Amino acid sequence: MKTLQNLIDGTWEDSRSGTSLDVVNPATEELIARLPGGCADDVDHAMTAAVRAQPAWAALPLAERVARIHAWADAVSEHVSELAELECREMGKPVGLGRSFIDGAVAGLRVAADQALTYPFEETVSRPDGSRSRILRHPLGATAVITPWNFPVPMVLGALGPLLASGNTVVVKPSEHSPLSTVRLFELLSLPPGVVNLVLGDARAGAPLAEHEEIRLVHFTGSVETGRRIGAGAGERLHRSVLELGGKDPVVVDAGVDVRATATAVAFGAFVNTGQICTSMERVYVHRDVAEEFVDALVAAAGTYTTGNGLDEDTVLGPLVDERQRDTVRRHVADAEARGATVRTGGIEPEGKGFFYPATVLTDVDESMLVMTEETFGPVVPVSVVSSFEEGLERASRSRFGLAATVYTEDPEHITAAARIPAGITWVNQWQGGGPEGRYEPAGDSGMGATGAHASYDAATRPATVHIAARPGA
Ligand code: NAD
Repeated sequence: MKTLQNLIDGTWEDSRSGTSLDVVNPATEELIARLPGGCADDVDHAMTAAVRAQPAWAALPLAERVARIHAWADAVSEHVSELAELECREMGKPVGLGRSFIDGAVAGLRVAADQALTYPFEETVSRPDGSRSRILRHPLGATAVITPWNFPVPMVLGALGPLLASGNTVVVKPSEHSPLSTVRLFELLSLPPGVVNLVLGDARAGAPLAEHEEIRLVHFTGSVETGRRIGAGAGERLHRSVLELGGKDPVVVDAGVDVRATATAVAFGAFVNTGQICTSMERVYVHRDVAEEFVDALVAAAGTYTTGNGLDEDTVLGPLVDERQRDTVRRHVADAEARGATVRTGGIEPEGKGFFYPATVLTDVDESMLVMTEETFGPVVPVSVVSSFEEGLERASRSRFGLAATVYTEDPEHITAAARIPAGITWVNQWQGGGPEGRYEPAGDSGMGATGAHASYDAATRPATVHIAARPGA
């Protein structure tokens, strides 16, 4: 079986690492590809190309950089089904779901690139004394993007738009679990050599990349544990880091909502992508007035999430990414049961091949349980009954994470109060979505660095001011 190659300076080439890793289809447990383990030599080589390519890329007119990004988006949009199938084989995501997220990411790439056209890369402030200041936003230089496996293609597309449009070059290191779709994504590139480079591997490639002396920014999406290491390394070397990490997102369900519709929405938020979304709904606080009806409807909705191979168009619940992830899910459910939780549905794994886990609803849960405090990243939703909306809001806010939150309520005062939850984004009466103007910085352990709309351009550029004194007599 051929080992996947790196893309460096526009050329596909073998890794210098001499080691390899397996890619296993999580639905069948079959070996489907090999990739290099990665090494510092590969990273050095890629960084040299990125540093060399950067001045010429930044010197292109902005409109041309934006047009080149659109050309990539055009190419990707013609291969959405193929990319979704690769994602399915490498990490289990059902193909229909994969297609819809890749479509969304391509649209997002276009919007993000176009936002460069309204970004103030240069402003001049004139003063009454005749002096003026030019406020410039320079590209940072060569940057690193390190991505997780749960949305392989969208994660890369989401990070690259503002970095490239600002005139930076990039070295990308995708997750070792999901290299196939990223390799294909980069085969569709038509940017000048060295502007985007790809280095494959695990931490053996990620660590030297994140700590490379030539990088000016590391944009990392992944676990809190790895994020802390990357943040510490960035602090040591004084380069910028944007860290988009894990979550334990709460949902508050108020009295007076459409209970059945809300339960259906919560089932989707908890189970889609097999619960492996950083903003998956991971703990629910439901008002006691609607609790019984809500749990019954949630259990009924969970019954519609049957497991299967994601290549089958009818599958709604693919496997977890690997056995390690399934172990985490098992451990959280077992811990909850041992501490008094009730499994209302799910909890029993199907027999046979594949890292499957059923849609699971837990009740009688509290904050002594891992499933209520640590990221589970699986199709498990713990539901806790609260005696008031206020109590729901207070418990939703009590977490070391602060990525996103969702509130279902018809009460106008409660809609306003939803903003009190410390989170980068709070959705009210929907989950996911929002306009292109949204800006976020995760709270707590969920990360640091604001992104979204012009905030992504602030993160991708360095401001500098040139003061020009008034000329005497002018
Ligand atoms: P992970 O931290 O294990 O790996 C993420 C990436 O970092 C991979 O490419 C990996 O190879 C690399 N890596 C591992 N060790 C490294 C090191 N020492 N130095 C540099 N790179 C290293 O995370 P994962 O399991 O791939 O992803 C799941 C996590 O990602 C979850 O916690 C999830 O919540 C989070 N996530 C967050 C967001 C967000 O936007 N906040 C989005 C998606 C996923």
